[in-house]
Amino acid sequence: PSGKPMTDLPGNFADDVALRPKYLRDIIGQRDVCERIGIAVEAAAKRREPLGHVLLDGPPGLGKTTFATCIPRELDVSLQIASGAALAAPKDLLPYLTNAEEGSVLFIDEIHRLPKAVEEFMYPAMEDFRVDITLGEGVNARTVNMKLRPMTIIGATTRSGLLSAPLRDRFPVREHLDFYSISELTRIVTINAKKLGLPIVEAAAEKIATASRGTPRIANNRLRWVRDYAQSRADGEGTLVVTDDALSMLGVDQKGLDPQDRKYLTTILRVFGGGPAGVEAIAHTLNLAVDTLTDEIEPFLLRSELVVRTPRGRKLTAKAYEHLGHSPPPDESD
Ligand code: ATP
Repeated sequence: PSGKPMTDLPGNFADDVALRPKYLRDIIGQRDVCERIGIAVEAAAKRREPLGHVLLDGPPGLGKTTFATCIPRELDVSLQIASGAALAAPKDLLPYLTNAEEGSVLFIDEIHRLPKAVEEFMYPAMEDFRVDITLGEGVNARTVNMKLRPMTIIGATTRSGLLSAPLRDRFPVREHLDFYSISELTRIVTINAKKLGLPIVEAAAEKIATASRGTPRIANNRLRWVRDYAQSRADGEGTLVVTDDALSMLGVDQKGLDPQDRKYLTTILRVFGGGPAGVEAIAHTLNLAVDTLTDEIEPFLLRSELVVRTPRGRKLTAKAYEHLGHSPPPDESD
């Protein structure tokens, strides 16, 4: 059997399973994306054809994996999960392709990290459900053509800009996931508090939502922390006071920025005079990988208009100066 049962998924997957929506109808927010994917899924099921390949992009924690696990459930097909970073050569991808049951889904997370050779190996698999395998070496080498069962590849990436055009073009369904509104996150927190057995008042749920950088995964983490705090330091109830105390202990501020966000902003302010500063220089100073900066930290700060990207680098906006309690330089009103 190719697909892994949904309850038996490895690593951080298992931790999240309890809170993860199971069907498209359970997904909060992302209405347009849900609707379009729902239509494609229904049509594919009616035609008894595999769903067209789906590419999901967006910052981490916004639900790419959630969509990738809901889709096969809707289609009632099995799911295999692979990570672009772990597929170093075509032979690493081959077992997934050959194991795939008819109509099943292969989810490739971090698809932008696939090496070129693996990417090219995947093209005929995506287009014609076949692969070309080279057997032997040198003068004895020959290529055999192997047929695969029709399947759907769902790719997830934090940066679709890094995908080559030929790979991107092979996904007929492409969807971008954006940050969630406070009210959507409040609903997610309220639903998940129930699942985690934490009684919570609406204002506290909203407080957690505000402190979650527009990201459901962060909302879940904050919620778990508030539950721990409530059980250890209070009587187990998610009141507003308990929630406030718990969040301030994490160093989350009014805008929902955490210490790392503020460190990023103050670094640009103090070390680079407010910018513009190159992303590599900032990453160096913070002792972080450039990818962490661009994929995890910056998207929300850009979206919150605290920082802007200019041709010469990152630059703080007037809003950021205000947030940090500084007055902006007189000649630079953003
Ligand atoms: P990554 O890019 O790291 O794979 P992701 O974008 O795939 O992250 P998920 O793992 O799907 O993010 O989401 C993290 C958690 O957030 C889920 O387990 C789920 O509990 C919650 N979540 C995400 N999206 C939604 C949503 N639309 N409605 C309700 N809960 C959600």
